[in-house]
Amino acid sequence: MSGPIIPYGRQWIDEDDIAAVTRVLRSGYLTTGPEVEAFEADLASVCGAKHAVVVANGTAALHCAYAAAGLAAGDEVVTTPMTFSATSNMVLALGARPVFADVLASTLGLDPAKAEQAITARTKVISAVDFAGHPAAMDQFMALAKQRGLLVVEDASHSIGGRFQGRPVGSLAHLTTFSFHPVKTITTGEGGAVLTDDDTLAEKARDFRNHGLVRDAARMERRDGPWYYEVQSVGLNYRLSDLQCALGRSQLKKLPQFAKRRGEIVARWRAALRDVPSLTLLVDQPGAEPVWHLMTVQVRGGQRARATFFAALQQRGIAPQVHYIAVNDLPLYRGLGYDPAATPIAFAASHSLCSLPLYPALSDEELDRAIRAVHEAAHEAAREAAAEASGRG
Ligand SMILES: *Cc1c(COP(=O)(O)O)cnc(C)c1O
Repeated sequence: MSGPIIPYGRQWIDEDDIAAVTRVLRSGYLTTGPEVEAFEADLASVCGAKHAVVVANGTAALHCAYAAAGLAAGDEVVTTPMTFSATSNMVLALGARPVFADVLASTLGLDPAKAEQAITARTKVISAVDFAGHPAAMDQFMALAKQRGLLVVEDASHSIGGRFQGRPVGSLAHLTTFSFHPVKTITTGEGGAVLTDDDTLAEKARDFRNHGLVRDAARMERRDGPWYYEVQSVGLNYRLSDLQCALGRSQLKKLPQFAKRRGEIVARWRAALRDVPSLTLLVDQPGAEPVWHLMTVQVRGGQRARATFFAALQQRGIAPQVHYIAVNDLPLYRGLGYDPAATPIAFAASHSLCSLPLYPALSDEELDRAIRAVHEAAHEAAREAAAEASGRG
């Protein structure tokens, strides 16, 4: 191994970001000040939505979106197992039930036909995930929702800046959620947002973010004086601070530059790996203009081959990751009676996936080193798979 460890993802922070945060530290507001509204306005404008509600993290964004959709005990949400567990955990948090439908092999996004089959009389929401940054089939989910009277939540934690059929991510679903964790495309340290065009959904998301607390005279039952407020529903404290919003505004300005560099790196990965027989790449769908969050490959030959590939990369100073273990294979979900065999494409993918280095600060030299390491690791994995197939394993 030569040189420092190359992770699969990391943030980009420069002097503009540091100056933006320090300005807030010298101002009067550390939270719920002008930077919050300004970041919300910037996000809404960049992502083509009427409202943006910024929150403490991407999990909180999902919780707020589902609460705004009115999810409660007895409701079902059709969703994908190929995601981080927060997508369905927040359904459980509201007492509702996730129903997993399988993914498309091409993008590993929720399969619209499978989602349709999973709808019952109790279904209230379809929750799709823009896996790796490729927008889910939002046209089909929105058509289905209209026909069946459902709401669509798009977990766009991976895909800020992307477009589908010419429209930005943030304008495609009834409710869109983002995460601004440091590995995501833009960061606020921890942070997230809910975007919507709907005034009522936005108001409900805002209420849930802030203790269910209402100060707007038009919405209060009475008004005892200028100090008066009402708590009208159960909410949490999911607010995002001014410090974080200032960082978010500064990061959002760099989104076009981040997107461009991520696109260049993915193009180089794809050209370098296209002819490696032991690796399968995702296939873009017509109309999708992804901003890539993850550079994923699937290692052919089963779990042992993937483990060999992963270890071979680690030995060469690359720190890959697996996105994701199928959610319905996690102990929490198995304990609730879910079976990952019910979604065979996602289950098989979870045994073959591996995420390779992809972040704007990755240099061409580091990328060359990572590509060499992947070629060698793929060779080792293919040898392992052949040995297993010939009966050793
Ligand atoms: C990162 C992520 C989340 C959770 O976001 P946090 O900010 O870490 O809470 C949810 N869904 C997906 C698909 C994610 O990638």
